Amino acid sequence: MEDRSGTGDPEREAQAARIRAALDRMRDTILEIGAAIEQKKGERCPYRTAQDECTFRGGCINKVREADGTRRCGGDHLLKREPAG
Ligand code: SF4
Repeated sequence: MEDRSGTGDPEREAQAARIRAALDRMRDTILEIGAAIEQKKGERCPYRTAQDECTFRGGCINKVREADGTRRCGGDHLLKREPAG
């Protein structure tokens, strides 16, 4: 990134350097989060809660309807849409 902080004011330049360093750390963190999401997205359905409830509004062949009306994930934990028809 081009340095445009060259104001000649050492305090201001130091502040600009701290901001650039903070932005670099934030960018690295966001990239790490994105990489983790990309890596994990095939391992677990995003509609499955920690309590194995299904929050998907559509049809999925893994969905199990309990007697009390709750919908539980009962499959291999990857969304598989019910075939139309
Ligand atoms: S895999 Fe199917 S049943 Fe399980 S949480 Fe995802 S959408 Fe619901």
